[in-house]
Amino acid sequence: MKFYSTSGKHETDLVGAIHNGLAPDGCLYIPEFLPKFNPNDIGGTSVAEIANQILYPFFKNSSLEVDLEDICHESLNFPIINNELKHSNNISLLELYHGPTAAFKDVGARFLASTMDRYLARKTYGSEVTTILVATSGDTGGAVAAAFYNRKNIRAMIFFPKEQVSPRQKHQLTCWDKNIKSFEVDGTFDDCQFLVKSAFNDKNLNKKHTLSAANSINIGRLLPQAAYHAAASIWNWRNYEKPSNFIIPTGNLGNALGCIWAKHMGMPIERIILAVNANQSIPDYLSTGNWLPRQSINTLASAMDVGNPSNMERLRFLIPSFQDLSNTIESFSVNDEMIKSEIKKVYLNNDIIICPHTATAFSTYEHLADNNDDGCPFIIDATAHAAKFNNIIEPIIGREVDIPSSLRDLLKRKTNYNSLSKKLDDLVKQLEKWD
Ligand SMILES: *Cc1c(COP(=O)(O)O)cnc(C)c1O
Repeated sequence: MKFYSTSGKHETDLVGAIHNGLAPDGCLYIPEFLPKFNPNDIGGTSVAEIANQILYPFFKNSSLEVDLEDICHESLNFPIINNELKHSNNISLLELYHGPTAAFKDVGARFLASTMDRYLARKTYGSEVTTILVATSGDTGGAVAAAFYNRKNIRAMIFFPKEQVSPRQKHQLTCWDKNIKSFEVDGTFDDCQFLVKSAFNDKNLNKKHTLSAANSINIGRLLPQAAYHAAASIWNWRNYEKPSNFIIPTGNLGNALGCIWAKHMGMPIERIILAVNANQSIPDYLSTGNWLPRQSINTLASAMDVGNPSNMERLRFLIPSFQDLSNTIESFSVNDEMIKSEIKKVYLNNDIIICPHTATAFSTYEHLADNNDDGCPFIIDATAHAAKFNNIIEPIIGREVDIPSSLRDLLKRKTNYNSLSKKLDDLVKQLEKWD
């Protein structure tokens, strides 16, 4: 399969799209087409088995075609569970947080690392070290660090916004050494994202260094995110013979785009509902037809504090007509008060502790006027483990949140990081200092 930039100006193959992250014209890569499947033809049960089938057309005729099966099994090796809620009307929680850093970002980061490791080992890109630049709103950076730590031929610089990540997220972002360095940027997540974009668009810098991106702009992260949405919809399809409705806590639109791609690939998916926090560019767009990205504002669901979701570019390319887009997705905004009361309510009613991001999706479910009209099962993406946000959750529910063992191991490690302004010059200095 070929991959194009959304401007149509650049064409490359899968390895090129993954390695470049962003096309040379500053646009995002999209696949030539989305392959179509009949869900009844998909075999196997695990996410790895299903991923191997539905991602095959994207890998076909690339140097990675022979590796796909190994990549799926190596990277998607932790449980992804569709947990049906007791005493509820066909709602389940898709637990995407059982990976090493306890957020769904582990899926994409591990798949990407596994993929890059394989083509870099073949020296297609020369022998120099590739530097991955990662802007993070809190969870991506930790997931990428964990996935790339100790890998050969590759190193990562992680940029996180000052005072906008939870204490445990910060620990996960900064507990690394060797081929991983973390930088606390004096700015917001959008500033971090802009910084990284500026580095990619700087011709001189790119002549001197092999740079790559591991943000949700990288297509290598989107593909496995399509795969677990496909898998969850197939599990429900086999159980209920009905398509599923998904509610997805949304920030940069990477996770939700995976679901939208899965639907376009023929998976049994009905409604796709994007839950956002007080950063409401997406629901405002759907209600007005005007796309007005803006500065992000800080909320309790900080990994979704995005005012200018980058994957909107891919979504609008896939569905250019506003009418069609508003028929494909719905979106609702949930403020901090609603997040807090939802965390409490779900704890009291269902005996489940959810993170603030997942709470936006639960709250959205409750506010849907027609939440059981079509009898289709609802799947709520649970994007992070509550223990990452214990500082927010424990005062609300009045008890400690148990820490998963992988997170406990990371919290034992020593931390270190550098401070950075949001100027490109400073990033360049740090990059050259590391050489
Ligand atoms: C990143 C993140 C989101 C938002 O996902 P996008 O792909 O950026 O839309 C939601 N919840 C958590 C816990 C996250 O880390």
